[in-house]
Amino acid sequence: MELFYTNTRDSSERVTASQAILNGLAGKGGLYVPTAIPHLEMPLSDLAGKTYQEIAYEVMRLFLTDFTEEELRHCIESAYDEKFDCQEIAPIREADGAYFLELYHGATAAFKDMALSILPHLLITAAKKNHITDEIVILTATSGDTGKAALAGFAGVEGTKIIVFYPKDGVSPIQERQMVTQQGDNTLVVGIHGNFDEAQTGVKQMFSDPKLNADMAKAGYRFSSANSINVGRLVPQIVYYVYACAKLTGGSGEHINVVVPTGNFGNILAAYYARCMGMPIDRLVCASNENKVLYDFFSTGVYDRNREFVLTSSPSMDILISSNLERLIYRIAGDDAAENEKLMRQLTETGVYKITQKMREQLDIFYGNFADEAETAATIHSYFKDAGYLMDTHTAVAAAVYGKYVADTGDRKKTVIASTASPFKFTRSVMKAINSDDPSADDMTLADRLAAISGVPIPKPIDSIRDAAVVHHTVCDINEMEPVVRDFLKN
Ligand SMILES: *Cc1c(COP(=O)(O)O)cnc(C)c1O
Repeated sequence: MELFYTNTRDSSERVTASQAILNGLAGKGGLYVPTAIPHLEMPLSDLAGKTYQEIAYEVMRLFLTDFTEEELRHCIESAYDEKFDCQEIAPIREADGAYFLELYHGATAAFKDMALSILPHLLITAAKKNHITDEIVILTATSGDTGKAALAGFAGVEGTKIIVFYPKDGVSPIQERQMVTQQGDNTLVVGIHGNFDEAQTGVKQMFSDPKLNADMAKAGYRFSSANSINVGRLVPQIVYYVYACAKLTGGSGEHINVVVPTGNFGNILAAYYARCMGMPIDRLVCASNENKVLYDFFSTGVYDRNREFVLTSSPSMDILISSNLERLIYRIAGDDAAENEKLMRQLTETGVYKITQKMREQLDIFYGNFADEAETAATIHSYFKDAGYLMDTHTAVAAAVYGKYVADTGDRKKTVIASTASPFKFTRSVMKAINSDDPSADDMTLADRLAAISGVPIPKPIDSIRDAAVVHHTVCDINEMEPVVRDFLKN
């Protein structure tokens, strides 16, 4: 059965999966959503014995119905290969009674690789399908990990260019170094004087600027997005939740909970979609850091971004506008684009919106909480000392919130914690948490020491930036983003 995608802000828009991937953002600033969430056809007991790639095919074919089997299998095989440092792709490790779904074994050691290693292949296939001959220009704002994962995915891919904007003072030194050492003539990395939300807003403005888009079209370019709003990122993220359900329950009927360290709400939305597909997932635990706008939203029904932006040790979650939440709002509004559009307009105009009681009732399956900096560090410390398990700061926010969830509810169901980055990407914070900090040592030295203390080897993507040359030097103000783009594209 063919599945179409509609716009969360305009019910008259209807496109195929490949068109949704190509367009990235829908019209009027809306997001693409499937008109119905398909039910998983193959029983979990059958999936339990399958590889990650096989499960990926069974899930993705239901969402990307205009891709042929050959095309989709080719995309999957090209993405989930030796770029990952383990055959399982997303291994599950038990520690202190929780199941850590490690999503950081790809090319850049963060969970963004799960989707961004396949997105370029989906995009190129989608372009061919729609007879697009323009060069695709990926514009991306990053809070740290997306940037490098997108660069790694697109570098050297023919028919594409990629431009990444990151907050100059809002990413870790290793994250920054990973990006500015990116090779490839088709890549540009730009630091901005501003935070992630400002970078994201700047990118969104370029997408919807008619003059800029017309000029680009004339020059043979077409903008697309690698941000987590793209359907081509959302769908591959559903896969690992199905994978985890298959591996952990084997189709026994047992239910599990899922905890996700959340920023832009893309990862947890994928878990929600997996649940809608019929996966035996009970509660979805949304873990925030001190930028706890989502915790407040789940507790009060009011989304309020008017607050101080806090820089934390989990920078990929330092976000006040969680773009993907819009897809959930749309759904709990009864797939009502007009209602959703009204709320999103309020968010743009006033920074606040309030959902109705009827909408709130559908959020029972979510549990929101947050962990402050001290709790995050204490969690890294205790899991390492007591269970011998080393985790990064983002995963630690989730593990800390999981502790609060169990204390609040007494629910000890089998629980998957999405483990989103290698501890070596945030070495300084991790070392500080396990009382091995040394302010005088640089990050690579600390990484060597962390490897020695923990017995966990430094992942290759991080080890390899040691001697890599810095090739990107551009830094600009927020209002200079467009000129920088035009300059790179010589237009
Ligand atoms: C992006 C990211 C997150 C947040 O994921 P969202 O989909 O934006 O909610 C959490 N942890 C890490 C390490 C990330 O890179």
